[in-house]
Amino acid sequence: MSGIRKAKRLWIGMLALLAIGLTLGALNFGGATTRAQTGSLPNAARGPQIPQDKGYLVQEIKDGLYWVTDGTYQGMFLRTGKGVIAVDAPPSLGTKYLKAIAEVTKEPVTHVVYSHTHKDHIGAAKMFPKSAKYIAHRDAAVLLARAKDPDRPVPTVTFTRSMSLRVGRQTLVLDYRGLNHSPGNIFIYAPRQKVLMLVDVVFPGWVPFIRLALAHDVRGFIDAHRQALSYDFTVFIGGHLTRLGTRQDVRTQLAYVNDLRANAATALKTTDFMAIAKETGFENQWLLFDRYLDAVAQKCADLTMPKWGTRLGGAEVWTAEHCWAMVESLNID
Ligand SMILES: [Zn+2]
Repeated sequence: MSGIRKAKRLWIGMLALLAIGLTLGALNFGGATTRAQTGSLPNAARGPQIPQDKGYLVQEIKDGLYWVTDGTYQGMFLRTGKGVIAVDAPPSLGTKYLKAIAEVTKEPVTHVVYSHTHKDHIGAAKMFPKSAKYIAHRDAAVLLARAKDPDRPVPTVTFTRSMSLRVGRQTLVLDYRGLNHSPGNIFIYAPRQKVLMLVDVVFPGWVPFIRLALAHDVRGFIDAHRQALSYDFTVFIGGHLTRLGTRQDVRTQLAYVNDLRANAATALKTTDFMAIAKETGFENQWLLFDRYLDAVAQKCADLTMPKWGTRLGGAEVWTAEHCWAMVESLNID
């Protein structure tokens, strides 16, 4: 149960992320500038420098698998010998993604994989050839058909549980493990390179985006960490921010999320609802619940910050918001 202010804040947060991504892309932000402006960030939150002249960084991770980033968003592509498989198409990167691919291969893009439906991750997909196969989970395809968005071509190939995409000498395993961040958000696994991509769940070196990355399903969001760890991977691509991740990054965020959950439960048990009701009265029930939930979330944040405040980027910004989402999940899930 949440007030209009909460819903508004949620939307503002979502729009802000898209705007920030587009702005960073447009401004050609370099790593040096970013660092200068964020002196208080923990080292874990820092990533490689983005070449300022190009506005993107492209690196081969292993055996024809590359990641491309502008320092805020991340994509991944594979050279197969018979065409390129591109995963996602963030608008902040836009055609810089095409330049990155052209930097390392002459092969055309023949396959496009959507991690999920969100525009900030696939909103530049129309730049890829119309003849390419567009692949997504069935639930994502339903939402994209409804969106009728020319920037996000409707998938031409869908799957429900799992799909092995073999092109040339490369293989990507696409798995759906249930609801987490959004309907149809999939695990994208390259077995030969031992690389796992899962977008908008784990943010290496950082706390998640606001309210557990606006998780559609908080239990599923937590489960997704363990599901990720069930893959045999060494490199993790989260779709966001400054750097690639490791298994340890997934474990670290799981520990943070578990602490949030435990501290949210403690805060729920120890926050005095009636004391708050004494201040607000019972007539305006939204006011009462708003004050109460904010108080519980703040107590949870106060319990969480001593351990995490200096370990993950943005903990001081969004730990109370994550607590709020966790409190709601404990109340209703
Ligand atoms: Zn998303």
